[in-house]
Amino acid sequence: MSTPLIPSPAGVYDVLVLGGGVSGSIAAIAAARTGARVLLVEEHGFLGGSLTAMGVGPMMSFHNPSGEQVVRGIPDELIGRLQARGASLGHIPDTTTYCSTVTPFDSEELKIELETMLTEDGGEILFHTQLAATELADHRLAAAVICNKAGLTPLRAKIFIDATGDADLAARAGVAFTYGRTADGLAQPMTMNLKLANVDTAAVRDYARRHPEDFLWSPVGQAEGLRRLASSPRLSLAGFLGAWKAARERGEIDVPRDQVLFFETPVSGVVIVNTSRIVGLNATDPFQLSRAEMIGRRQCSQIFHFLRQHAPGFAAAVRMDTAAKVGVRETRHVAGLYQITADDIMTSRAFDDAIALGGYPIDIHAPSSETTATTRLQPSARYQIPLRSLMVERPENLLVVGRCISATHEAAAAFRVSPIAMAIGQAGGVTAAEAAQRGVNPAQVPFAAIRERLLQQGAQLPSLETSARAATA
Ligand SMILES: Cc1cc2nc3c(=O)[nH]c(=O)nc-3n(C[C@H](O)[C@H](O)[C@H](O)COP(=O)(O)OP(=O)(O)OC[C@H]3O[C@@H](n4cnc5c(N)ncnc54)[C@H](O)[C@@H]3O)c2cc1C
Repeated sequence: MSTPLIPSPAGVYDVLVLGGGVSGSIAAIAAARTGARVLLVEEHGFLGGSLTAMGVGPMMSFHNPSGEQVVRGIPDELIGRLQARGASLGHIPDTTTYCSTVTPFDSEELKIELETMLTEDGGEILFHTQLAATELADHRLAAAVICNKAGLTPLRAKIFIDATGDADLAARAGVAFTYGRTADGLAQPMTMNLKLANVDTAAVRDYARRHPEDFLWSPVGQAEGLRRLASSPRLSLAGFLGAWKAARERGEIDVPRDQVLFFETPVSGVVIVNTSRIVGLNATDPFQLSRAEMIGRRQCSQIFHFLRQHAPGFAAAVRMDTAAKVGVRETRHVAGLYQITADDIMTSRAFDDAIALGGYPIDIHAPSSETTATTRLQPSARYQIPLRSLMVERPENLLVVGRCISATHEAAAAFRVSPIAMAIGQAGGVTAAEAAQRGVNPAQVPFAAIRERLLQQGAQLPSLETSARAATA
């Protein structure tokens, strides 16, 4: 017997966003500000996705290696609003030296601020709701069939945005996708984030100053790292290399990773430990995802005990929690109208439909080993994200935002971070709202209108001359 469908709520939304991570939330806010009737659908009972459910932080980075800010617009407004509530320190020097800046935030306040921004612009939110199926008609998505406590309900909209991170909506609608690296199809590993309190960060700083050789520093170097350690209000470090290696050799740790990476939150002494590593599992397979949750929790227990016993400053650390969901860095990338490549990132290739900029390097946590491979950008790099990488051929009324847009494994390893994912979300929201209001598909909206609206909303875009050069190249 088939399950009966509950009737759709009255009317058709202009824009339906599936997935309330930061890219989906910012997409929904941007669409609502552009005048659309918006519904944001999320499987958890709060917004923020990776940054809340998966315990990720800080945001990194709004800046390129030289320190120029390349992400502004609604993402930067979000940080300003959090700062005004005492829930973020803003953009501060990254003491690991991996980036020029990091942006620590209070994850509980982030949940509230995203809800506030969306609802004050007239957007609606539906929590505790998963995608169950899609209805297609005439090369368009007619409805997303959702599943929640009320059963199965078809939700109708003029334009749909897939912000699930995993391209769930696109995949169910039959869109082709790529998964992982070309050589063996493996994606970046998962990580269970661990949150600790009562860390004596003054003692950690003191140890790092006396033993810089026990930490990893980027090419800008150890001296710069030590300078930032003295001045930055919060600590980020990758290291404890000697004790970690010894504990692994003694068999106390079976985490396939060569370092301990941790970041202090806005609350002094509370740190996020981003160190566990779960390799070779596919997060879009529910059974493999379930195994990853269990492996991640056990790894975090080992990491916690290691830190208390062997890491200066952590002797009295208290375990607050592991994240509600294991952290998923990478799964599907849709096959869109344009696939962003590593070459586009490394050369800051100019596009005549650029809708966002990025300055974060290609950062690949090895899919099958213990290392992390970084391909560094030029200091003044500002790579561009073209609108076509958010678009698929069919369904014609579907856009994709966030970490699952059309890109190779290597390119996605750069723009996947939250500031750039948010900037992409803003562009997706504006494009969807403009299309809904004009009664056309996203690909038919004049790009000048999208660019103008994004600039009105404060987004950072390349100059018109750069875009014109791309158009004639
Ligand atoms: C371990 C780890 C460490 C990281 N470290 C950093 C860092 O330090 N700094 C940084 O800036 N970035 C970091 N990142 C990357 C960054 O957090 C994410 O890539 C970025 O936030 C992606 O945002 P998103 O909105 O595209 O996707 P997500 O954050 O994954 O959001 C997707 C949302 O969709 C919802 N969803 C998914 N499927 C469905 C469905 N079928 N139905 C309904 N809802 C659904 C999810 O619940 C989630 O809320 C890290 C990521 C991981 C995993």
